[in-house]
Amino acid sequence: MKKTSYFSYSFGCRVNEAEKEEIDRKMALNSFKFDNEKPDIYIINTCSVTQKAEREARQLIYRVKKDLPETKIVVTGCSATYWIKNNLHKTLPIDLMIDNVNKDFLVELIKKRLSYAPELHPRGVVKNLKNKFLDSGRAMIKIQDGCQRFCSFCIVPYLRGIPHSEKIKTLVTKIQNLPTSIKEVILTAINTEAFGYDSGEKFTNLLRNVIDNTKVPRISFGSIHPWSISEEFFDFYKEYQPKNRLVNFFHVPLQSGSDKILSLMKRGYKSSEINEKLRLIKVLNKSALIATDVIVGFLDETDRDFEGTYNFLRDSPISKFHVFRFSKRTKTAADYIAKRLKEPTSEEKNKRSKALIELSQKKQSAFMESNLGRKSSVLFLEKTFEEYREGLLDNQLPIYIPNTPYGCIEAGKLKNVKIIEYKNGRLFGKIV
Ligand code: SF4
Repeated sequence: MKKTSYFSYSFGCRVNEAEKEEIDRKMALNSFKFDNEKPDIYIINTCSVTQKAEREARQLIYRVKKDLPETKIVVTGCSATYWIKNNLHKTLPIDLMIDNVNKDFLVELIKKRLSYAPELHPRGVVKNLKNKFLDSGRAMIKIQDGCQRFCSFCIVPYLRGIPHSEKIKTLVTKIQNLPTSIKEVILTAINTEAFGYDSGEKFTNLLRNVIDNTKVPRISFGSIHPWSISEEFFDFYKEYQPKNRLVNFFHVPLQSGSDKILSLMKRGYKSSEINEKLRLIKVLNKSALIATDVIVGFLDETDRDFEGTYNFLRDSPISKFHVFRFSKRTKTAADYIAKRLKEPTSEEKNKRSKALIELSQKKQSAFMESNLGRKSSVLFLEKTFEEYREGLLDNQLPIYIPNTPYGCIEAGKLKNVKIIEYKNGRLFGKIV
């Protein structure tokens, strides 16, 4: 009997990616076959964090409908939740729309509503699951969902609800049961500060337990939110960083470097406070790469405020920024305060975004160069460039290692490397 095939695609954050991985696992467990050419079912996990993200999800839906008219389209995630809440889903050419509340039942709903009856995988175990993370020895583990912060620009708490965390014991067991081919676990959360909000457990205890009770060589946090970098975190970090299991990468979404804008965003911290914490991370670990997300063109952001953000980022130990242009999301606090505060024009937003992207490129190059001469473990990816295989250093910087004789380095393997050259924006190294 021909197996029903499916394809899945995820927009947005690493939590979405972790959810997609879980969906793939369940689809495989239910004997659906992965097919990236002409699947029977196309699952889209959407993001709604900006208007652009929502637009891209719509575009993909229409493209799939046009290119694969026979394929059933299943849509879930934050945009799906937003469309259902606002009764907009009926206008889209989809076969099944599932909101975030019911996302865990996505596979069951596909079987029931779209009338598929595949059998459970005979051994109840899924092998050979493929995606770009698993293929390079990395597993995404979702530790928490939802958010209680209600930052004024953000729609996520309305779409993902109050925080819900997995129990530390469950997470540790999940990681212990991963195949030995997994060399890095990425712990993903909507807001790491909200880990334990409902269960009373602590984020730092989760990290301690994962390091103490599992054997995965690398442990990484997808993002660590500013409120999680507390005294307690530093106590943990001073003790556990020397064990060399934590990936030296900090993605700390700060959103602005101007105190006025941070206050309008209701972020609850000042730029100087956070700067001090980031500096301490660098004192404890100078090879740590610190990255951030920043929004330009928020309400009432003047040239002077932007200059504050620019100068903050220029002088801070942050070496890489993801820049977003502010877009109002319906029903958020920013949507209401927009009635009395001026929003910068598209030209202003574009100009500010360009300036920050250029600054980020400059700072990232300087940071890459500062890694020359260092030795580090490297986790190899599926990607190649000319005769090199791409890998990730212990701080997640990409590095290229000669892959000759042809194909001698396998994706998903962990090896020690010396960083020897920085050329045309790329680091090169050799296995030691
Ligand atoms: S912390 Fe703020 S930006 Fe992040 S999900 Fe929660 S409300 Fe949104």
